[in-house]
Amino acid sequence: MSNEKSNDEMVLQKKLDRIQRIFIVLSGKGGVGKSTVAVNLALSLSLRGFRTGILDVDIHGPSVPKLLGLIGKRVGVYNEEIMPIEVHANLKVVSMGLLLDGNEQAVIWRGPLKANVIREFVQNVAWGDLDCLVVDCPPGTGDEPLSVAQLLGGKGSAIIVTTPQQVATIDVEKCITFCRQLNLPIAGIIENMSGFVCPHCGKEVDIFSTGGGVKLAESYGIPFLGTIPLDPDIVKSGDEERPYMYFYSKTKTAERFDEIVDKVAGFEKPGVDVARKDVASGSSVDSHPQVQDNGKEVAMKFAVPTYQRKLCAHFGHCEAFALIDTDSEGKIVNENYVTPPPHEPGVLPAWLSQQGVNCIIAGGMGSRAQQLFAQQGVRVVTGAQGEDPREVVEQYLKGTLQTGANTCDH
Ligand code: ADP
Repeated sequence: MSNEKSNDEMVLQKKLDRIQRIFIVLSGKGGVGKSTVAVNLALSLSLRGFRTGILDVDIHGPSVPKLLGLIGKRVGVYNEEIMPIEVHANLKVVSMGLLLDGNEQAVIWRGPLKANVIREFVQNVAWGDLDCLVVDCPPGTGDEPLSVAQLLGGKGSAIIVTTPQQVATIDVEKCITFCRQLNLPIAGIIENMSGFVCPHCGKEVDIFSTGGGVKLAESYGIPFLGTIPLDPDIVKSGDEERPYMYFYSKTKTAERFDEIVDKVAGFEKPGVDVARKDVASGSSVDSHPQVQDNGKEVAMKFAVPTYQRKLCAHFGHCEAFALIDTDSEGKIVNENYVTPPPHEPGVLPAWLSQQGVNCIIAGGMGSRAQQLFAQQGVRVVTGAQGEDPREVVEQYLKGTLQTGANTCDH
């Protein structure tokens, strides 16, 4: 028995060794936007190139799948390990909501069992190498946050989310005391729903008194990370299951999330260079096209827009995408054709990212779509010439793909 236990400890330690930082997102009370903040911070981290994981340990009311548009998806199991859902190349997600059969299914588990599940979510999940793991805890300071802090606290720091109404309450104080008692460092406090973004003029108005978060942080000697306004688009994106930082990436609120990420992680170099530079400069083929992970080439998923199974000039109005997988040696291992959702601005970049695509090879693509892909860390090659999608990918990997002007740049 004790051997089994020490074996378990070793497996857990090995997993933790591959995760650089862990942010444990806590709140004193439900409904303050903790999950919203956790998901959008994770999105912001992943979009700037950090290899990020989201672990939703809210066993009774997981909301992360909905916020990421993953309702109905299920994690797979391979070699006895849970395979997280990959929202895009840099973002992996595990949640009880991605394990259960029915969305409505109630989970009646007590303390020790919950602690086991949380351990399983780290120990038996193929997280791989992560720069950051964001853990979304249920509200309060009950069993789950306690297990998370005990299990991951050594590498973790807490991010406490509150609202202007909650800031001075005993619940927030309890949260701070909880971290201190467990020696869990506090990365800082975020004041969510602070001020209101007018949907008509876009201006921010202070409807409740704000600034309590700064004072609270000062009085406890902990960092204040920033405010997120009450923004109707956040509610809308949640209801529509469209991840906010994808679909509203150019908004003032999105900037706030980015600024918070600057404070908690911004000055470190992301572990994966997902070649945003290619997209930004509009250049196409570089001399070393394979995505690298710490110098090692990794498997890739390409998408090529097609019409009648041939490369088609316009990315946005293609009939189907050829999705082509390569292994870490650049060999094609899978090819299939998928029909995209109806053309609408912003939809294809998010959808292709959700398919796990990390490189698009197209004849032409509008600059807005290129920007969206850049934000999601997806490489884009435009002006590709040729017909057979498979050959196009092979030529790209060999560095012999002929490219001309972006054939459709409107
Ligand atoms: P918690 O995890 O604290 O229970 P959620 O993240 O589930 O809270 O958010 C609760 C509700 O508040 C959701 O409907 C969400 O869309 C909304 N919400 C969260 N943050 C904001 C915000 N800054 N502006 C507007 N609505 C928000």
